[in-house]
Amino acid sequence: MRRTSVSEWAWSLLFPPCCAGCRTSLGVEESIPSEKNPLGGFCRQCQEGMFVMQEPQCSTCGHPLTQNKTHCQRCILQPPAFDRATSLFAYAGAIRAALHRYKFRDDHAAGRILQAVFQQYTTPLSHDWKQYDRVLCVPLHPRRLMQRGFNQAWQLLHAMTVVTGEQKSPDILQRLKETKPQYQLGHHERQDNLEQAFRVAPKQRHNVQNQSILLIDDLLTTGATAHQCSQALKLAGAKKIDVITLCRAIL
Ligand SMILES: [Zn+2]
Ligand SMILES: [Zn+2]
Repeated sequence: MRRTSVSEWAWSLLFPPCCAGCRTSLGVEESIPSEKNPLGGFCRQCQEGMFVMQEPQCSTCGHPLTQNKTHCQRCILQPPAFDRATSLFAYAGAIRAALHRYKFRDDHAAGRILQAVFQQYTTPLSHDWKQYDRVLCVPLHPRRLMQRGFNQAWQLLHAMTVVTGEQKSPDILQRLKETKPQYQLGHHERQDNLEQAFRVAPKQRHNVQNQSILLIDDLLTTGATAHQCSQALKLAGAKKIDVITLCRAIL
């Protein structure tokens, strides 16, 4: 639950701001991402170890490419159901530490920094997003949502759409299976794990037909989750699916 600005002020007196990556104390002015300091909330040392994803990348999944190619081998052999995935940061260093603490140790201060960083980095892209009819996020299974108390992808979606005014539609995709985290599994297990894990809610199918959709998630690992979500959306008639994630694992 979001605290009011007065209680946030009181909170900051009790718990002075610290780096979302390494917990070093920060001055108030460097504790929040801004246009001037888009990685505010992370100390200088942590910022230096954060890698913004850059070209050359696979035109479909965003994986870094070393040679002068347009697509990675994985996308050539098994093209995913989404049209294009973009990630903001490599899943490493301070951003990985912050995301982990947010998701698994309930560190909502780190979560708020990540949402604000996501907002800073996605706002300049938003002029391209008029092409999308809907913005969705990867859903959690209801049981996982109950345990965790929040869906980190929804929080990112919310942070982004507050600025862009895009129409967010969090109820369209449903997660039917409580899947294991993908990083704990081998390649084949990952495919089985996610098989038919998602569907478009039956009453929402008309909201997907012939629509261009932007799908948000916190982390793209192998792309299997984004692929399964996109497959369910395309099965329901979606025209185009692009994906944007805060981080991307470099495999
Ligand atoms: Zn730090
Ligand atoms: Zn690729």
